[in-house]
Amino acid sequence: MLFKTLDIIEPIQRALKKEGYTKATPIQEKAIPLLLNGMDLLGCAQTGTGKTAAFAIPILQGLSSELRNSKEKRQIKALILAPTRELAIQIGDSFKSYGKHLGLKTLVIYGGVSQNPQTKFLGIGIDILVATPGRLLDLINQRFVRLNNVKYFVLDEADQMLDMGMIEDVRRIIKYIPTLRQTMFFSATMPNEIEKLADYLLKDPVKVEITPVSSTVDIIQQEVYLVNKSNKIHLLIHLLKNKSMDSALVFSRTKHGANQIVKSLEKAGLNAQAIHGNKSQSARQLALKNFKERKIWILVATDIAARGIDIDELSHVINFDLPEVPETYVHRIGRTGRAGLGGMAISFCDQEEHPLLQQIQKLISKSVPITEDNPFPLAEKPLELKVAAVLTQKSTASKTNLPNYRRGTGYSSSKNNARKNDKTRNYAKNKRKENWK
Ligand code: AMP
Repeated sequence: MLFKTLDIIEPIQRALKKEGYTKATPIQEKAIPLLLNGMDLLGCAQTGTGKTAAFAIPILQGLSSELRNSKEKRQIKALILAPTRELAIQIGDSFKSYGKHLGLKTLVIYGGVSQNPQTKFLGIGIDILVATPGRLLDLINQRFVRLNNVKYFVLDEADQMLDMGMIEDVRRIIKYIPTLRQTMFFSATMPNEIEKLADYLLKDPVKVEITPVSSTVDIIQQEVYLVNKSNKIHLLIHLLKNKSMDSALVFSRTKHGANQIVKSLEKAGLNAQAIHGNKSQSARQLALKNFKERKIWILVATDIAARGIDIDELSHVINFDLPEVPETYVHRIGRTGRAGLGGMAISFCDQEEHPLLQQIQKLISKSVPITEDNPFPLAEKPLELKVAAVLTQKSTASKTNLPNYRRGTGYSSSKNNARKNDKTRNYAKNKRKENWK
């Protein structure tokens, strides 16, 4: 559906056009009209579906219709809670770009950095506040934030907040928000506790569900290498040096592990950076910026640091360690294959991780093919892993759903490849737009 057929005001239409958005994504098509009508919304959708614009556009439109006396200090009218700083920043950026012709003020606040610049802006007055729960609660307690004028409340990635132990903070924050408001609640999964919280927060909500978690993996080509723990790093270096990859996001289970991986890659002459909770906020942002701008093509991350991060056109996800929770596998590999594009997910599995692989296969209802072309194979293949397909490098290319640009000659800074990367970006953008037609 075209944006111009939705009842969106001209200044927002203009900003969307500038962003290159013409067609609404399925969640936008369903949610925007409902939200413009003032309904509460329960959205079951992950990042990559366009959910940020689905809630940001109606909020911006609602706020723009309110008359404001220019002499009065701005009051916080919209509050968006997100689990991680990276996601909060991304949401803030979206509000700023879709609302750039509206004259509204948006502020993003999160922990791990000095609160002074944040309190300064709060003092001047803002319309839209995007926050992580911990810092927000801190600033409420210090009386820097008042939420008694909030009319729009969004809780984003609620299940992730639960995993990160933030739900108590969220409950405390909710007590400061008026009950007369419009609430939008997003969660990729609905565990019991999240369902209870949604029941408590939402009034007669409309439920919009977009691509259940286990089906998003269908467009992503997956393979697994059975390997000893001690050989994982050698295998990683081998693949990064020999496989054709535009960009790779490598997942480590621990922060220490992520640092070790980066050190080993650097020793092997591969430029990589890590993002995890022990890194300063500025180091995390810089690493992410470098990765997005393709100054580095390898990023090593822990789950929490990478969740919700929107990286366009990521060609490879590598699970250096398998996650403990099978749903996390789906979230990880969903970093590639965004918005209908193909992608490739490679997983390493050592002897101790076999049960984890089995749980993942159960969740996604298919077996992940074991790659035979493995320079560091296990002496014996475990019997319990019943695997249907056997991959050879040759058949990989023909079986894959990947568009051709991802089977190029690999990353290099040569002029040809720079040109190829430009083509790749355009191809990916057009492809995404096609997918949403
Ligand atoms: P989100 O799920 O909100 O993280 O959005 C995923 C990505 O899709 C972001 O890079 C958005 O900028 C982009 N996006 C969202 N809506 C549209 C649209 N209607 N057309 C093109 N790109 C979009």
